[in-house]
Amino acid sequence: MNNQSTTLRDLIHHSATSPRDEGEEARRVQLVEVTINSLAEVGYVGTTLAEIARRAGVSPGLVAHYFDDKDGLLEAAFRTLARTLAARVRARLALARTPRGRVQAVIDCNLGPEEFDRRSGTAWLAFWGQVLHHKGLKRVQTAYQRRMLSNLRNDLRRMIPGEEARSLAVMIAAMIDGVWLRAALSEWQEADSESARALLTAFVEGRLKDLAQEPPEGAPGARSVRAARRSAEATEPLRVINPASGALLAELAVDGPPRIEAAVSRARTAQRHWAALTGAERGRVLQRAAHMLRARNDELAELETRNTGKPIQETRAVDVLSGAECLEYYAGLAAGVAGEHLDLGPAAFGYTRREPLGVVAGIGAWNYPLQIACWKSAPALACGNAMIFKPAELTPLTAIKLEEIYLAAGVPPGVFQVVQGRAETGRLLTRHADIRKVSLTGEVSTGRAVMAEAAASLKQVTLELGGKSPLIVFADAALDNAVSGALLGNFYSAGEVCSNGTRVFVQRSVYAEFLERLQARSARLRIGDPLDPATQIGALISAEHMQKVLGFIARGRAQGARLVSGGVRVTSGDLASGFFVAPTIFADCHDDMDIVRQEIFGPVMTVLEFDGEDEVLARANASEFGLAAGVFTNNLQRAHRVIAQLQAGTCWINHYNVTPIELPFGGVKMSGLGRENGRAAIEHYTQLKSVYVAMRDIDAPY
Ligand code: NDP
Repeated sequence: MNNQSTTLRDLIHHSATSPRDEGEEARRVQLVEVTINSLAEVGYVGTTLAEIARRAGVSPGLVAHYFDDKDGLLEAAFRTLARTLAARVRARLALARTPRGRVQAVIDCNLGPEEFDRRSGTAWLAFWGQVLHHKGLKRVQTAYQRRMLSNLRNDLRRMIPGEEARSLAVMIAAMIDGVWLRAALSEWQEADSESARALLTAFVEGRLKDLAQEPPEGAPGARSVRAARRSAEATEPLRVINPASGALLAELAVDGPPRIEAAVSRARTAQRHWAALTGAERGRVLQRAAHMLRARNDELAELETRNTGKPIQETRAVDVLSGAECLEYYAGLAAGVAGEHLDLGPAAFGYTRREPLGVVAGIGAWNYPLQIACWKSAPALACGNAMIFKPAELTPLTAIKLEEIYLAAGVPPGVFQVVQGRAETGRLLTRHADIRKVSLTGEVSTGRAVMAEAAASLKQVTLELGGKSPLIVFADAALDNAVSGALLGNFYSAGEVCSNGTRVFVQRSVYAEFLERLQARSARLRIGDPLDPATQIGALISAEHMQKVLGFIARGRAQGARLVSGGVRVTSGDLASGFFVAPTIFADCHDDMDIVRQEIFGPVMTVLEFDGEDEVLARANASEFGLAAGVFTNNLQRAHRVIAQLQAGTCWINHYNVTPIELPFGGVKMSGLGRENGRAAIEHYTQLKSVYVAMRDIDAPY
């Protein structure tokens, strides 16, 4: 995480006011380092010029030659610590893609492991104690605080209005200092770097969420609040990062209103020609695109892995190929999209035409970028629509490849177009009067916003949203299968799967045995470089998301869940600059814990004990979500009885998270509206026209 390339030597050299030779510089660096060590070991009072000279093996006169007196030496040492930290912050800020990411960079660096290290921590504490009595130290401290505040303020302003940004920046700075100080005063017993960062992250997330509840339309200031937020958001280019290394993969311009207008206008014209082809002709084109996806599987899988941090063994086997399967499936259905004939007696008959909607929009989440683009575009195109697709800002790359493939396969230009941007670009699509439908994959709050905005032009919506799905293991289940299901349903794609069975309910008589087998198998999971074919658990999508997941883990511990495995960020070797979290299992969980109620979207499984069928059904259904559910049992009747009562859109019996394209996929309750995949998706991308055909002259009374 800390891509610090600046050395102590660089910092002191750059701070020098007059050129000095190498030997002098080396001596100054040595004396500053000795001072920091001395402060850590014998404190402020014990750190005298004589003590420094003794430790450095030089005369007190030489120390005075470089730094005049003790105050000068302390100031140089404090300046060095502050500059080292500032350099770390700068390096992290350069990697952050979003204003939120930049705020996180400030938090992560100020509360980084280096600041909790006993040596520099104790030296910092000594300085803090002297700041009020020493003008030089005060100057350094004030400069550092100002820089931190202005970094925070500038980035927060891009997310929230100015006044709120100012006060939140002050709060964050105060909390950083407060949390660090308490940890230092407790001699690092009260908090470590990780829990301190998780605490700050949870605080910032909470505040931003509260502030995001924008004032209602018409409330004083509402318009300017929205305008300020959106215009700031809209312009900054997307910086696409490899989450396994923090390396920059690409920078993309954000598409604003002119580009969206142009895309819609192009799509309108192109769609008419596309819809005029027969279904079979459209099917042939989709079939060609599917072949191209398959032929480019390895290349696309690698790109997806670099952009998402998912293991290459997954992207090669699933992400691209499931997209290709989807295209093949709808290529096959395209010719069969049809209405029905209705016999209305000898005087008339009726028929329905299943017609395309026109121009539709797809808005994707970051967890399955290419697959989501295929799941939305294949049925849309098969039915004769044109689609404008906006991938998530974090994962915009493979959708561009899909556009290329569609064009090469013969999809006319304008029928499938990718636009890039953040929420504001999504809003431009959602609000556009000429776009007749939006299909979104994303969070519940985004689904709500999209539905509200779509209402103005009465657009249709398909919403594939979040979940907190139950996976129920009855005592009569094949236990190893149930363990496999729980592992697949929690750790695939590092847990960043909407339908994951993150609430694993296990019947009491097999609870201990289940946990034992689960723990043994999860211990063998390989976390590592996503491009290594042996890696099973890759990186999380971003630093912000990782902090959110670690925040949940910290809350799980604080609320009394028993940590069975994982629970930490992994920073060993090459993983240090990526966003890796160990597969985490909490046992003995309760229904009211945050980790059990809220979607974490990371590798965190919660295991809960139950006694009876009615009890587990009530607990499984006690959630605002209803995306998916799984049941493991060898009792045929129980399996179907329980499934029938589970409030979920997609269910599995004795398996978990398999999503064949033939089966409709989607949620109930807050997990969504409408369905993707299967024949059901055809209904969501077409509209019915009813036609009455008279077979006799009109018998008019006029
Ligand atoms: P978000 O809801 O944050 O974003 C989804 C997409 O919507 C992004 O492209 C985003 O843009 C865009 N967006 C955000 N706000 C608006 C708005 N007001 N109007 C229009 N578009 C907007 O979801 P994530 O990307 O964080 O994905 C994770 C979520 O997706 C989880 O909750 C997960 O459960 C859910 N999901 C659901 C699936 C399902 O099939 N049910 C499958 C996969 C994920 P930006 O790029 O700026 O973020």
